[in-house]
Amino acid sequence: MILITHALVGAALGKQIGNPFIIAPLAIALHFCLDTFRHGEYLNRQSTFKNTTWKVALDLFSGLIIVTLYLKFSHSSIETLQNVFIGTFFSLLPDLTTVLYWKFHANFLKKIYAFHEWVHPYPKGDQRYDWNLRNSSNDIIFSLIAISILLFF
Ligand SMILES: [Zn+2]
Repeated sequence: MILITHALVGAALGKQIGNPFIIAPLAIALHFCLDTFRHGEYLNRQSTFKNTTWKVALDLFSGLIIVTLYLKFSHSSIETLQNVFIGTFFSLLPDLTTVLYWKFHANFLKKIYAFHEWVHPYPKGDQRYDWNLRNSSNDIIFSLIAISILLFF
């Protein structure tokens, strides 16, 4: 799924759970769970570092800006702020390891990379990963649920 979805779900998790030591592993587990759902990907086999960096940056910063705006206007306690930050960070971490493995050949991440690939529902290159609205509907649904949790629960 896209980074916006992961950031929002991680933030919502951080808001709901008091113990930061539980948030971190749960956020990582939740990342892999979310990736088992059908989702469009803007990265594919033709992607190069050059033509995707701006997309990743836009995706990442959009997610972080929404979380930051939430924190700014919700007048959260320091504890909630910290937990939302932890949730967001660990929720994004699996995709960061993919970038490190893919681009910087960090071979110690190979097993995590393989596991990450394995949780994905379809083979690489499948059209169900194409970047379109149909394939993004799960991202939209999970993002809306996360925003609702941030705002109303
Ligand atoms: Zn992922």
